[in-house]
Amino acid sequence: MIYADYNATTPVDPEVRAAMAYALEAGFGNASSLHSAGQEARRLVERARAQAAALIGAQPDEILFTSGGTEADNLAVLGVAENARPDKRVVVTTTVEHQAVLAPCKHLQATGHPVTFLPVDSHGRVSLTALADAAKPEVALFSVMLANNETGTLEPVADVVTVASGCGAPVHTDAVQAAGKLPIDVKSLGVSLLSFSSHKLHGPKGAGALFVRRGVELAPRLHGGRQERGLRPGTENVPAIVGFGKACELAGQRLADDARRVAALRDRFEAQIRSRIPGTRVNGACDARLPNTSNLAFTGLDGEAVTINLDMLGMAASNGAACSAIDHAPSHVLLAMGQDVSDARSSVRFSFGRDNTDEDIEHAVELVVQVANLLRGARP
Ligand code: PLP
Repeated sequence: MIYADYNATTPVDPEVRAAMAYALEAGFGNASSLHSAGQEARRLVERARAQAAALIGAQPDEILFTSGGTEADNLAVLGVAENARPDKRVVVTTTVEHQAVLAPCKHLQATGHPVTFLPVDSHGRVSLTALADAAKPEVALFSVMLANNETGTLEPVADVVTVASGCGAPVHTDAVQAAGKLPIDVKSLGVSLLSFSSHKLHGPKGAGALFVRRGVELAPRLHGGRQERGLRPGTENVPAIVGFGKACELAGQRLADDARRVAALRDRFEAQIRSRIPGTRVNGACDARLPNTSNLAFTGLDGEAVTINLDMLGMAASNGAACSAIDHAPSHVLLAMGQDVSDARSSVRFSFGRDNTDEDIEHAVELVVQVANLLRGARP
């Protein structure tokens, strides 16, 4: 199979698997127990915390482990908004966020918090004018993603931080797609909160983290024991956390090489498809884009049909985000970028990764051309 759906999830790295196997055996203790089995589990969790922190330039005590990106996003958005002063309750986000941010924002709106959804341009980049207009002293939080999961477009988060500091509000960024693909340094980026997720960077599913800058106050979403400073109570999932930590360490070591190699594969794929399938457009084709993502609109074709036919030929791609593929809705990201429903429905996301080869790209191009010809031929 040619796997070109790395933005949906990634295969677990063999070194990650080995670290997890060790944790399942030697780290079976409860990390809160005082005896030596518990202390070994604690040691493994704290090593993973240091590994996760290192990937984003944070201090280990600024990392809270969660069950993944969705929980980290919810904790950031709801945790800050529900802790906010009564005169500072506005949340500002964008129309192109992942549902893990949009849904908690809509929940806040339904419970009386004003929420501003900032528009984006045709590349999916947030409008800086709308951002400046939204900057008011009443803002409790800005939440703007670092990289879009569907198009790969990078948002100007540093500009958001500048605007937000003018109104004394923290900035959260969803870096679930960026972590492991781009270098991240929370100090130079200046954000107060940042979410990332294990299964997007060759770790296991069911682990992720929220970076919370020292001094930033959050209300917990769960109530229980004192784990994760009481902000994420519950007995730690030691093997998943260990796998996540190892995956972060490997991502840090391989990031520059992976990004350079994968960008070359992606660019070759895109150029060949565009020359062989007339009318193909690249969604979010700006310079500020993830190195691995190619979101293509095949004018006049149905993206879902392309994806299904590719799968039948042994190639995995995606028509939109994996979670919205379930409800067959046109992509809210492409609609927000000004596309009409039929353009949005004609789009397919190809996302490449560490294990893809030159041969994969040659083969992938042939399969996509074959499917496009088949579907065009089948049209009345
Ligand atoms: N945010 C973005 C940008 C994502 O792409 C995803 C997953 O696709 C998530 C959040 C949710 O992360 P998780 O699957 O770890 O809950």
